[in-house]
Amino acid sequence: MCVVQGTVTRNTTIDSCPLCGSGQKVRVVMESALRYCRDCGVVFNTAHSPAGYDSSYFLDDYHRQYGKTYAEDFNWIYNQGLQRINDITRFSGKKKVKGCRLLDVGCALGFFLKAARDRGFDVEGIEISPYAVDYCKDTYGFTVHNLPFEEFNQHGSAFDVITAWYVIEHSVIPVDVLKKIYSLLPSGGVLACAMPSLRGPMFHLHRNQWISTHPQDHYIDFSPGSITRVLKKLGFTRVKCIPASFHPERVCAKQSLFYPAFSWMYKKVSKVFCFSDTMYIYALK
Ligand SMILES: [Zn+2]
Repeated sequence: MCVVQGTVTRNTTIDSCPLCGSGQKVRVVMESALRYCRDCGVVFNTAHSPAGYDSSYFLDDYHRQYGKTYAEDFNWIYNQGLQRINDITRFSGKKKVKGCRLLDVGCALGFFLKAARDRGFDVEGIEISPYAVDYCKDTYGFTVHNLPFEEFNQHGSAFDVITAWYVIEHSVIPVDVLKKIYSLLPSGGVLACAMPSLRGPMFHLHRNQWISTHPQDHYIDFSPGSITRVLKKLGFTRVKCIPASFHPERVCAKQSLFYPAFSWMYKKVSKVFCFSDTMYIYALK
């Protein structure tokens, strides 16, 4: 059973679970710095170290990984943002979003905010990178707060939708972050986020590779079940997890004769069981 603590600060004991605070059911994941709590179903990283987010993160580091800078990847990120807005409105049942207030936590260069504004939302962002904040303000004129979300000083039902794309896994106080998001939403408000998932081919079938490529700046990994339990415990009334990526080649080799049929079937099964290395989570307050 997962127990959400009243107030969670970073554990004083490095091996205690950030959700339940206990070390009793915590097991080492294959002699690595990663720990699995069998009670809560989460993995946490005892060797966690935060990354720096200066301009090189959006220029050189991004270019090294994707062959272009973050800004040059505008079209893909913007169109993905439009799709995410569609998913949010479909999930919440909101027919009209004009004037709805949306906060994007970790808004980077503001491409998702632009997609949300183009669809009618009143948007605001939070971003720890001064480079990204300047880009958002200079390029789009967005209101973007340059601080960690943990220090964001807003109270009450300030936003109708709060988004956090690949952000929560970086936090060393993930439950506090989720609690704060909950407190900033009105009844009927929506949290939409994305994060890595433990219920995917990498964790289950390629454990060594999953460990060796686990980012140092990721502190916590959830499964669809564990994030759903935490969000329900906090008070969210409806939670939906769906795959954010499809990688059948991580289960069946592309050269295989069975690959085309398998790939088709994989997509169906992946959707039903949310079997994927990354997932979207939509939660209604
Ligand atoms: Zn635990």
